[in-house]
Amino acid sequence: MTTDKYAVFGSPINHSKSPKIHQLFAKQTGQNLEYTAQEVNAESFAKSVTDFFVQGGKGLNCTVPLKELAWQFANEKTNRANSAKAVNTLIKQADGLILGDNTDGVGLVRDLTLNHEIELRGKRILILGAGGATRGIISPLLDEKPECLIVANRTVEKAWELAIEFNHSFSGCGFDDLHEEPFDLILNATSASLSGELPPISQHLLAKNGICYDLAYGNEPTAFVQWGKAQNARQSLDGLGMLVEQAAEAFFLWRGVRPETKAVIELLNSARQN
Ligand code: NDP
Repeated sequence: MTTDKYAVFGSPINHSKSPKIHQLFAKQTGQNLEYTAQEVNAESFAKSVTDFFVQGGKGLNCTVPLKELAWQFANEKTNRANSAKAVNTLIKQADGLILGDNTDGVGLVRDLTLNHEIELRGKRILILGAGGATRGIISPLLDEKPECLIVANRTVEKAWELAIEFNHSFSGCGFDDLHEEPFDLILNATSASLSGELPPISQHLLAKNGICYDLAYGNEPTAFVQWGKAQNARQSLDGLGMLVEQAAEAFFLWRGVRPETKAVIELLNSARQN
């Protein structure tokens, strides 16, 4: 029996948890596959992806800074990839064409609604940041029918441009423009946490019993998770669950089998507490 080959490409990639997650999924579902992490930058992307698939690779994940390049590379794209203009999952199809998908948004929504039982319908949601991650989560969040969705960004023009691109299905603004009613859910989709920083937001923005969620994650609580706890958020969560859920969706696209995520999230959580 041949072992099917998968990988994650990105830079930096040495701390990626994806190989561990996919090994756990493969073991759990009895799938025979290998999943490696490869340091690939924007310059080497096209050649590395082409070589990978020519050498028999079945599927790839692409992470920072390659998601927009992966979107351009794919022969065919799903609606959610086109809405995000970013691809984190490439699939080699039976006809040899490469399909690009974006599983980040569905991963976030599954983590919020299934793992944490957070209701999104009718809720006021604020996203901080207007980069690649925000592009991927807007449509899946809007599908949940929140009362309102606002994207606030340090560079306000990027938030405005994003709102125009999404036909004003949400409002874009700067951090200083947030003077309205508090929000039930604040999602930090900036990369500020990666350098231990906090986006400049007022404590009045979080509703009583509101929830904070940082898409970033680390071995210690991120600056934004700590901020949420200090505001007495009902829950203040990081993006480890989203990471596992987006991986599970990619695994499902590749193998046609949906792995159980709960045990994998628990295992990664306990590993970082030790
Ligand atoms: P991008 O580089 O595309 O965007 C970064 C965003 O962060 C921009 O909006 C930028 O604002 C903003 N920003 C950066 N530093 C600061 C700061 N100090 N204060 C305020 N805003 C800041 O990154 P991504 O969108 O790809 O990733 C964002 C985060 O989401 C990362 O932490 C990443 O790890 C996480 N992520 C997690 C996933 C998961 O599975 N859990 C999946 C995908 C992403 P400006 O436009 O002004 O520069």
